[in-house]
Amino acid sequence: MGSRLPRGRGITSLSLGVDIGGTKVLAVLVDAEGVVTDRALAKTQRSGPQSVADDVARLLAKLDPQHQISSVGVGMPGVISAAGVQLAVNLQGWDTPVDFVPLLSKATARKVTLANDVSMAAVAEHRVGSARGTQDALHIAVGTGVGGALVLDSKLRTGERGLAGEIGHTAVPNVRLPHASIRLPRPVCACGAAEHLEAYLGRAALERRARQAMGRGVASALSDLAGDSRMTSSVWLDALDTGDALATLLLDEATQALAVAITSAVTLLDVELVVVGGGFASRLGGAWRNRVAAMHAEMMSIANPSKIKGSGIGDNAAALGAALQTQTPSN
Ligand SMILES: [Zn+2]
Repeated sequence: MGSRLPRGRGITSLSLGVDIGGTKVLAVLVDAEGVVTDRALAKTQRSGPQSVADDVARLLAKLDPQHQISSVGVGMPGVISAAGVQLAVNLQGWDTPVDFVPLLSKATARKVTLANDVSMAAVAEHRVGSARGTQDALHIAVGTGVGGALVLDSKLRTGERGLAGEIGHTAVPNVRLPHASIRLPRPVCACGAAEHLEAYLGRAALERRARQAMGRGVASALSDLAGDSRMTSSVWLDALDTGDALATLLLDEATQALAVAITSAVTLLDVELVVVGGGFASRLGGAWRNRVAAMHAEMMSIANPSKIKGSGIGDNAAALGAALQTQTPSN
């Protein structure tokens, strides 16, 4: 993509960011202080990249009708490289790889910076959220799946292959809880590998495992609560509230798997902070995060545990970070 537009010389100090998710597309207008001043939402279309690009253009026209802002930052799930979208997880109708930047630039008539959504959320947390003031932080987003991003020396690290921070696909073998009376099948990750963190944790993995267990005759309130529909965060919270044994066991295993993965990462990287954000994590709330922190503390045998915090920004994090990226001169 070209860089004909000089940075910092726009006619406005406002910036635009977009978060393309599996269910919704969120666009935000951000001021020079990093405050979201307006937002616009659309449901994610399932007919592929062009319709999504058209929706992004429509949302930006709502937020910036005079076309005063010449660039936009866009975050989306999957493996994103300079060449485009290599793998679009959780997006239907995408036959990857997709050369998405030219498509978006044309639809929005703006210079487009495209990056992974969790990386953009990490940028936002570092600049104005929970990780503000830290040098080194690991960011984990627990939603449909488990995403991750790494900030070291106050810089987002994407790594040689764009994998840095991808904690969801690190191996967590043999998470078996001693008290479990329900026998569960070996967890398999969305990527096909067995016993990755994302094989246990995230709404998709939890639902997959729950349906496998119920298919083998394990009774659970999840069955009535969800029916044939997707098991939303609310379904899980309701099942956990009633003390449902299967829901409790699956979340206990997933929580333990997360604590193991965090402990390995903290031992390797010695980050001062781990931010556990994402839609599902935020619904599980502070009590659940405290459990993760307590397990992590117990597992750290050679040094003090890392601090674990929730998102300081919430829903807007990825879109806000994408907007902030367009304000920051890259180096
Ligand atoms: Zn995996």
